Amino acid sequence: AESRSNRAAVQATNDDASASKLSCVKKGYMKDDYIHLFVRRPVRRYFARWAALRKLLYQFLDCEGSNSEKGSTKKQILSLGAGFDTTYFQLQDEGKAPYLYVELDFKEVTSKKASLIESCSQLRDKIGATTSILRENGEVLSDHYRLLPVDLRDIPNLDDVILLANMDPSVQTFIIAECVLIYLDPDSSRSIVGWAEKTFSTAIFFLYEQIHPDDAFGQQMIQIWRVEAVHFWVSMLCQLCKQRQKYFLIRDGRFQKAVAWDMLRVYSKFVDANERRRIERLELFDEFEEWHMMQEHYCVAYGINDVMGLYGKFGFE
Ligand code: SAM
Repeated sequence: AESRSNRAAVQATNDDASASKLSCVKKGYMKDDYIHLFVRRPVRRYFARWAALRKLLYQFLDCEGSNSEKGSTKKQILSLGAGFDTTYFQLQDEGKAPYLYVELDFKEVTSKKASLIESCSQLRDKIGATTSILRENGEVLSDHYRLLPVDLRDIPNLDDVILLANMDPSVQTFIIAECVLIYLDPDSSRSIVGWAEKTFSTAIFFLYEQIHPDDAFGQQMIQIWRVEAVHFWVSMLCQLCKQRQKYFLIRDGRFQKAVAWDMLRVYSKFVDANERRRIERLELFDEFEEWHMMQEHYCVAYGINDVMGLYGKFGFE
């Protein structure tokens, strides 16, 4: 069984190679009339992650306080290690963007993102006229979107950064950490989660991460993705996923409530059935064994701080 799972992990690199080739073809860098016929599985793998985050985001954006009118409540989203994620622009298109959307990453990354935003009117138009873009500083500052550079490990600086971002810690906040914490050392990762929990009183902390690092498949994935830090957070998530139920993290004094599901369960029990059917029809061939293994090695977890009792309807169930 071990060598089979090793093989599956190594084989998964082929999907990524094919996906890269396909994007070269789509951009016109090279011609290959056949590669698209072979790129199927990564689409579904990524789709499950996207659909889960999107559905939880909509739930958050639609949560209303008991005495507020629909859509009138101020909300903010904070994306940690946002990279080149485009969720803000998509939400804008859908008329669903929150009052404030803040993205943080290393300066090297935010500078590149800032200059891409500056040079592309399709993006610039989405962030409004009163925008200041400071490419060298890696900053974009507008009324409703803010991109700022920070090393997330520098916890004391995080308070300054959210101040600079105009975030109000008492406002409902959705924090995204998608494939980010695993790259940090355990102490930093723990401190970031603790900081978020202490800072935002009415918040949802969303996490998408690799789990089960100790089995053969997990080991292979760690080598392939060159992840050096695999830590407490991951083992805690593994436990949560095994329990497959609600779990109260009172003992750690962390979030009032936390839930973790592996992606196999998220895909079959949370992603809308219609969406699943649509995606499955797009696929010609399928390697169920590898798909299952990949999905079991990733999870979505969320922690909730809910002093105002707003998030009763939020979550997987
Ligand atoms: N969250 C994005 C997504 O899912 O598309 C990007 C994920 S990417 C795998 C990880 C991101 O985390 C990178 O953009 C990286 O620069 C950022 N990151 C990792 N460690 C960081 C740190 N200490 N401070 C700031 N950003 C960090």
